[in-house]
Amino acid sequence: TKFSDLALDPRVLQAVADTGYETPTPIQAQAIPPALEGRDVLGIAQTGTGKTASFSLPMITLLGQGRARARMPRSLVLCPTRELAAQVAENFDTYAKHTKLTKALLIGGVAFGEQDKLIDRGVDVLIATPGRLLDHFERGKLLLTGVQIMVVDEADRMLDMGFIPDIERIFNLTPFTRQTFFFSATMAPEIERITKTFLSNPVKIEV
Ligand code: AMP
Repeated sequence: TKFSDLALDPRVLQAVADTGYETPTPIQAQAIPPALEGRDVLGIAQTGTGKTASFSLPMITLLGQGRARARMPRSLVLCPTRELAAQVAENFDTYAKHTKLTKALLIGGVAFGEQDKLIDRGVDVLIATPGRLLDHFERGKLLLTGVQIMVVDEADRMLDMGFIPDIERIFNLTPFTRQTFFFSATMAPEIERITKTFLSNPVKIEV
């Protein structure tokens, strides 16, 4: 498979070419086509497999033009730690650099002010840790009813850190019709239960 065989937005293909990637990794080759068809994806994959691009490239393609409304992000990426969220945000900027899509990074340990301003302006992609996302929600600053695509990254680490109740709550704040990409290095029973509850007929990919 070549990137150009995948039905990605030309601006995404340009960004991938700029980055110097030559061929899709196995998870990218397997996840991107069903993701672009609107399917839910369950990826059993470790860090280092290229999983960030496997959800970011179709997400950017599916979002198309930026047209987010105030306080209503169009997509949501949940990460277990601030460091991982920051890394995903950096990757998103790289892959979305030829588009007009907007993003905000919501992580703890920094003031709410700047994050509030970004949310108020309207963002296409919100990249967040679960606790800080729910803080914003409880402060009445954020609505998740416009989320079309939701990503859960490193669910096994979410479980280790006690975030599963937060994740369930966040799932329940988003529309039932959303598309979901869910990644975990392992499938513990608790993770399996979440995927059965919140994913709809997912394509399961193990790399
Ligand atoms: P990830 O598993 O998403 O953390 O990605 C691991 C590393 O692989 C990152 O440094 C990416 O920039 C790089 N990477 C992702 N996809 C590709 C690809 N198709 N070809 C070469 N490198 C890639």
